[in-house]
Amino acid sequence: MLFGPPGAGKGTQAARLSERLRVPAISTGDIFRANIAGGTELGRKVVAYTSRGALVPDELTDALVRDRLARPDAEAGFLLDGYPRNVAQVEALDAMLADAGTPLDAVVEITADPEAVVDRLLKRAAIERRVDDTEDVIRHRLDVYADQTAPIAKVYADRGLLVQVDGIGDLDEVTERLVRAISPALAH
Ligand code: AMP
Repeated sequence: MLFGPPGAGKGTQAARLSERLRVPAISTGDIFRANIAGGTELGRKVVAYTSRGALVPDELTDALVRDRLARPDAEAGFLLDGYPRNVAQVEALDAMLADAGTPLDAVVEITADPEAVVDRLLKRAAIERRVDDTEDVIRHRLDVYADQTAPIAKVYADRGLLVQVDGIGDLDEVTERLVRAISPALAH
């Protein structure tokens, strides 16, 4: 599982890691964006949250991940990108994984200085035109991260699962740091 503040490069690195590890990357943010773009019922339900940079309610998000993890391509392993995002979601995921008998091998926190990520996100806004990349929404997403998501680091650290990787630097270098950080956990 991979988490980190908005703009830390989480999505890009998840895609790269998923190729290296040959497991699907399951990104709740990407799934929400695809549903919004496709005009689905789920998309209509979540757009009010994602466009403001607020978390989508847990019931919707947990159900989505439960369904996704049940698909055959996740049987041999998976990389979670952007889920869980608060302590309640950690507990929901615990229950799903206990049912499936597949514990997490490792939890990686990609770290980045908040001012550096605001800059990165404003640059991304100009390229990708994400509606949640305006400065106000970015600042709100950083607050949500600090209040709700950052506390999950301690939960996983207490379980001995947390590794932290510096997300600032050359893309390839960060990928190598990630691979090095999780290799011991994947070796058994
Ligand atoms: P991301 O692409 O991971 O930055 O996610 C984009 C947006 O999707 C977030 O700002 C939230 O509105 C929503 N989102 C993604 N993952 C979750 C999650 N695990 N729980 C609630 N909302 C989420």
